[in-house]
Amino acid sequence: MAVYDGLMKQDLGWIGPGGEVLDAAVFGTKAALLSRAACVGVPVPPAFVMPEALLEEERLEATLREAVARLSAGLEGPPLLSVRASSRGSGSDVVPAILNIGASGDAMPELIARHGPRVAQDMRRRLIQSFGVGALGVEEEEFEYALFDLLRELGVEAESDLDAGQLADLAETCLRLIDDATGAAFPEDPCDQLVRAVREIARAWHAPRARLRRLSRGFDEDAPLALMVQVMAIGLGTGRSSGAGVAHPRDPATGAARMSGRYLVNAQGGEAMMGLRTPSVLCRWEREEKQLREPSLEEGDPAATAELASISQRVERELGEVFSLDFTLAGGSVQILELYQLKRSARATVQIAVDLAEAGAITREEALLRTGPGVIDEHLHPTIDPAAKRDVVGQGLPASPGASSGPLVFSPRAAEQAAELGEPALLALIETSPEDIRGMHAATGVLTVRGGMTSHAAVVARGLGTPCVVGAQNLTLNVEEKTLKAPDGRIFREGDVITVDGGEGQVLAGAVPTLMPEITGAFATLMSWADAARRLDVRANADMGSDAETALGFAAHGIGLCRTEHMFFQDHRIAPMRQMILADGEADRRAALDKLLPMQRGDFMELFTQMRGMPVVIRLLDPPLHEFLPHGTGEMEEMARELKVPVDKIRARALELAEFNPMLGKRGCRIGIAFPEVYEMQVRAIFEAMADFKAQTGQDSLPEIMLPLVSAVRELALLKERIADVAEAVRAERGASLDYSLGVMIETPRACLRAGDIARLADFLSFGTNDLTQMLYGLSRDDAGRFIPDYVAQGVYEHDPFHQIDEEGVGEMIRIGIERARAVKPEISIGLCGEHGGDPESISFCEAAGFDYVSCSPYRVPVARLAAAQAAIRARR
Ligand code: PEP
Ligand code: MG
Repeated sequence: MAVYDGLMKQDLGWIGPGGEVLDAAVFGTKAALLSRAACVGVPVPPAFVMPEALLEEERLEATLREAVARLSAGLEGPPLLSVRASSRGSGSDVVPAILNIGASGDAMPELIARHGPRVAQDMRRRLIQSFGVGALGVEEEEFEYALFDLLRELGVEAESDLDAGQLADLAETCLRLIDDATGAAFPEDPCDQLVRAVREIARAWHAPRARLRRLSRGFDEDAPLALMVQVMAIGLGTGRSSGAGVAHPRDPATGAARMSGRYLVNAQGGEAMMGLRTPSVLCRWEREEKQLREPSLEEGDPAATAELASISQRVERELGEVFSLDFTLAGGSVQILELYQLKRSARATVQIAVDLAEAGAITREEALLRTGPGVIDEHLHPTIDPAAKRDVVGQGLPASPGASSGPLVFSPRAAEQAAELGEPALLALIETSPEDIRGMHAATGVLTVRGGMTSHAAVVARGLGTPCVVGAQNLTLNVEEKTLKAPDGRIFREGDVITVDGGEGQVLAGAVPTLMPEITGAFATLMSWADAARRLDVRANADMGSDAETALGFAAHGIGLCRTEHMFFQDHRIAPMRQMILADGEADRRAALDKLLPMQRGDFMELFTQMRGMPVVIRLLDPPLHEFLPHGTGEMEEMARELKVPVDKIRARALELAEFNPMLGKRGCRIGIAFPEVYEMQVRAIFEAMADFKAQTGQDSLPEIMLPLVSAVRELALLKERIADVAEAVRAERGASLDYSLGVMIETPRACLRAGDIARLADFLSFGTNDLTQMLYGLSRDDAGRFIPDYVAQGVYEHDPFHQIDEEGVGEMIRIGIERARAVKPEISIGLCGEHGGDPESISFCEAAGFDYVSCSPYRVPVARLAAAQAAIRARR
């Protein structure tokens, strides 16, 4: 025994009396959880667990004999045993368990004496069946057919109607089936049964069938195996208090502490969930709600459900998690066979994390770390009901989360018309451009067949919080015919209802039921914990008052990017903007800008009013001017009529402004240098709005003027001077003190390298990681969506660099920029305002790189707040 003790203690894990907490990495998750439960007093049948390395040892048989001897100590007679896989993570059930090992022919007299003839015979035939399937490779259906044949022949309904003799006959039939299928005799020696069960389950675990099953369920194909040999809990017998079931201690949809589950009389293992027999429900409320006739376990054996409730509370308190419990009722006494994490909705995830932290079962930090960003997303947008059927017709990129159903429209105008009638519309386009923004505003969902994660459609939809799928290349969109063709040949026409799932990137046929978001209660509590834990501030990219309002609703700490060009696409502003572009000289241009000035002033006033003294980063005009001109002949003619200018003039100007590489052309601060009056108008609008705001409210606004696409410090120097001149002029006109700060968007590689010089003249820097990624990779942000999925699928890129920051390249450039800027101005404020500002992994990078804030679209703000908290907690650990 001494030798055995020394050997076993080191190599085997023990669950039950004298056992300890087992390491999941060695003994698998199932065994580790059971051991933890047993250690806090949960009734668990005793077991030993063998790590995979032991299975190959020559001493396997001796080891098993010795371990069984120890397991049996103190028990009445040799116990029946089960052998189950216990792997790391989920998926232990890809190989079947073998039950009732030891119920051999020789053991029958004793089993009959202890359990009665019927239960004893049932144990034996269950051993034969599970051994046949698990160790001898006989198909389970063979046994099921045999059972059904017998039931039909006897004219009885269920196997629980069979008596001892009939069960013995069934066992004989099963033995014959095994003989026919394998030609092998059934091993009657219990030790032989155990050794073979262990060996065969281990072999099956690594066989292609189990590997494929693991793969198809998203588990690790090569997951290591441990085997658990456990004393059987006997759930056999025809009274209500013998059976097996599963208990879910909380509501998977809401997280509320309300138990539900299934229970099958006269059953073992996971039988209640196998679907061969119809189980009853666990609790009375379930029976009443579902209007079932069969009484619940709670009604049949209230003490058992009370015991289950008390066990689950203990597990929650001691293990700090909510688990579903596989249990067996052996003559009324509860035994827990397996614990697995309760499957839960996003809402339940948050409710449970907050409840556990408030009860002191886990820390607040732990509650924050357990909440994935997807969970927050799901809280803020309607999501497809997990119970709904999905008829997927197209696949693209998940550009903006949430699900939306509606009739298809194929033009922004049609989306606007639907909105005017108060009707939903799903806008499908090849891709979108700035002039489509009003239609996108009106649409309830957006779908494009081209474009990547930072394409115009994706950026705008995220800003609007509109569910959006981009780059659904397997769909064929015919704009002329207004049709959308699926790969399977189905054609969807205008008015046909489809659904976009912007969280999954899927396009689905028809309307699909959705669940509505819930942003109060536990969610609000969790977010307040996140705010207390984070170091990074989170601002929002907001272009208009309505965006700012949304951002504030999500507790943004200011606006980190207002793209002023979006203001020009609103209402009637596009006309004076176009007049400005068509102007023949500076005087004409100034006349058009004079019309835009009050509108811009109003825009800024609205932002200042919304943000009540919080910082507002206003970026001066960025896109190339030709983006404001129409493209097609029809639209040009319409513009000519509206502005009363010859269409040829428009065409000529469009041609003149056309560039081979507009993204690297006359855009950003280059516009401000080339047409000083454009930026002059914009900053005058800012300063006048500041003065108006102060006059009207008595409060100060906090504008931070930002110059886009700077690559040389001289650009900044020149513009800084001009802006100061305008400020001085407005100060003199209005007698107001105008405190503003001036910063630079660092979005060219050269600006990163020259960040030291730039910082000398700037009050703040904000990294524009969309353009920076584009320029560092030499990868067009508008075209990359066409091939990045292939790149990611083939492992060329680990992920889409427009979505998650490329730490190796773009990240290094950013670190260089920060280092050089802080070397000359340690206190300079540094933010990030590209799309990466809403991506949790990128936020984690920002925490490490020493940013002061990130800025993202308003609907991403809560995700960013949580991610910032998680990054800070991890950094502290
Ligand atoms: C950027 O380039 O990262 C950015 C925020 O600016 P935009 O997307 O407007 O070019
Ligand atoms: Mg940019």
